[in-house]
Amino acid sequence: MSKTIVVTGASSGFGAMTVRALADAGHTVYAGMRGTTGRNQASAADAARYASEHAVDLRAVELDVSDQASVDAAIAGIIEDAGRLDVVVHNAGHMVLGPTEAFTPEQLAQVYDTNVLSTQRVNRAALPHLRAQGDGLLVWVGSSSTRGGTPPYLAPYFAAKAAEDSLAVSYAAEVARFGIDTTIVVPGLFTTGTNHFTNAGHPEDTAVAEAYETRYAGLMEQVGKRLAELSPADADPGEVARQIAAVVDLPKGKRPFRVHIDPADDGAEVVNAVGDRVRREFYDRIGLTDLLSPAGA
Ligand code: NDP
Repeated sequence: MSKTIVVTGASSGFGAMTVRALADAGHTVYAGMRGTTGRNQASAADAARYASEHAVDLRAVELDVSDQASVDAAIAGIIEDAGRLDVVVHNAGHMVLGPTEAFTPEQLAQVYDTNVLSTQRVNRAALPHLRAQGDGLLVWVGSSSTRGGTPPYLAPYFAAKAAEDSLAVSYAAEVARFGIDTTIVVPGLFTTGTNHFTNAGHPEDTAVAEAYETRYAGLMEQVGKRLAELSPADADPGEVARQIAAVVDLPKGKRPFRVHIDPADDGAEVVNAVGDRVRREFYDRIGLTDLLSPAGA
């Protein structure tokens, strides 16, 4: 059945691929992006062109996840336009690279805002509608870095993605009785096809960053190079989009709690399997087993 879907951060990378995969599957898809008449004007035009060339229902919508008014207007506009909203894909994110101490607290707050608080803004706008209709799906684009191998110089980003993951896990149980399903999509490293690395932020305190060079000379380049080497040449970022589209098309209650797409296999799948099993067992022990799947499944 065709669903109405919003994807945040759909101007590039996984988000841009996901909106196309979902539209190709026959859904009404809103590609959330900031600056549709400015920085992302070309991406908004690309989405419109894709829709007309492929005869699919794909529409760019102004949605800055850092701004509650923008998020509220986007979600209200979608509901007015389409009459409903079924699926929210939390995809917008931003990475930073560098020695942790060299980032200002304000920079850490900014990373946390884009990767974590963003999802709370979108949820608070969208969940009242999903709860009222007693049906819906939250897809969270997480990261294998929250549980797998964690190389240095990526801490503010890894910490934020871990916080996002933790929020997603708790939310899953809290929305289940409203018939809302949850899937956490866990991509591993993809060094091509997204702006993840090209747009990465760097520490503002350059003096501290330089001090780290005395003991860790070249580590940043080393990490980037070794990570790129770890990722197989045929790693296809489009697989993330295909997996999200596949999850959306599964019936309620049959969707996996997590989907890992990690060609370099950094180990997150093993750790998440244990964590998710312990979570399930704990819910059983405290008599809340029903919260492990959405009502009406
Ligand atoms: P991209 O940089 O290509 O995509 C990130 C998207 O987020 C961009 O569209 C960007 O828009 C958007 N975004 C950032 N800030 C905002 C904002 N305030 N409002 C709206 N949109 C915003 O990288 P990816 O496709 O790789 O990243 C997508 C998701 O995948 C992220 O959550 C990331 O953490 C996750 N991920 C990526 C991995 C990888 O290796 N590539 C691995 C694991 C997880 P804009 O162009 O305006 O900046």
